[in-house]
Amino acid sequence: MPIRKIITTPHPVLRGKAKKVVIFDADLHQLIDDMIETMREAPGVGLASPQVNEPLSLFVAEFGDENDEEAPLQLYTFVNPKITKTSKETEVGVEGCLSIPGIVGDVIRPHSATIEGSDRDGNPIKMEAEGWLARIFQHETDHLHGVLFTDHALSVWEPEVDVGQVSSAD
Ligand code: ZN
Repeated sequence: MPIRKIITTPHPVLRGKAKKVVIFDADLHQLIDDMIETMREAPGVGLASPQVNEPLSLFVAEFGDENDEEAPLQLYTFVNPKITKTSKETEVGVEGCLSIPGIVGDVIRPHSATIEGSDRDGNPIKMEAEGWLARIFQHETDHLHGVLFTDHALSVWEPEVDVGQVSSAD
């Protein structure tokens, strides 16, 4: 399965609105599998479809447990995701993005978020996430609306070490 090329700013597809997925066929499954492989190879903790130049509403994410380094990674696939509820409580976290290499920034987001969408076969799924996982889901859902973390970052800077190793490069 091929690794897809990750597009970077200022590619216009990163600024477009992703199209709703209506057909859950082998082509979609191939795209999802390629995205998982591309995310792992990057490496990143999440990848939205527009980042591989496919403006469809879906993302993949893979993350363990921020409180337990030995917890196994969990793989998530959300098709046509929507954030349907967020907490009033917010927190600041340092984000990066595979489509904006060499930059990280402080971003305020709700601490927890409910996400609804469907799985790769079109079955509805709903999940409540908190902390980093909620942040990843919000960052990836933003991509499907053409929004990048730099749009609402409090400040951005160039880290001295490789972004992918220190924070959430997605
Ligand atoms: Zn990103």
